[in-house]
Amino acid sequence: MNGKTMDLFKFCLDADQASGSYAIQDLNRLSAELFASEGELVWNFSGGRHQIGAPELKLHIQAQVKLICQRCLTPYVETLDSVSTLVLAKTEEQADELEERLNDDSIDVIVVSPEQEYSVLIEDEALLALPVSPRHATCPDGFKAEIINEKPVSPFAALKKLK
Ligand SMILES: [Zn+2]
Repeated sequence: MNGKTMDLFKFCLDADQASGSYAIQDLNRLSAELFASEGELVWNFSGGRHQIGAPELKLHIQAQVKLICQRCLTPYVETLDSVSTLVLAKTEEQADELEERLNDDSIDVIVVSPEQEYSVLIEDEALLALPVSPRHATCPDGFKAEIINEKPVSPFAALKKLK
């Protein structure tokens, strides 16, 4: 399942669609951030072309993941549901040039290879969708908000800030 590749440039220019799912336990980088690696992650790719002419990939991921609430320190289920628009570049130089032409912070330009292992993009998207400070919307009874933790130092939090 992991390790499968796709020519995403062709995929986008053909305006293709693809979808699938992964067992979360098979996504090692994501699993490492979770309290439990049960369940599955559902993904959808939608290819197209940005108005500036570059290949554009819409990536939608959905998953329910178990995290530890930082307020009451018990596990809870967080729903991840995230859509990203990615513009594809073949080289770093091309990516810089596209960033400049796009001038749009809501779109990420990423460098992908013609044989891109696409599970990497899906897992990246899931990691970026994780809450920086996971917590229940309302903690269960019996737990008071006595424990106020500082924000966790997560490399993905830092990554998100850079975006
Ligand atoms: Zn809680």
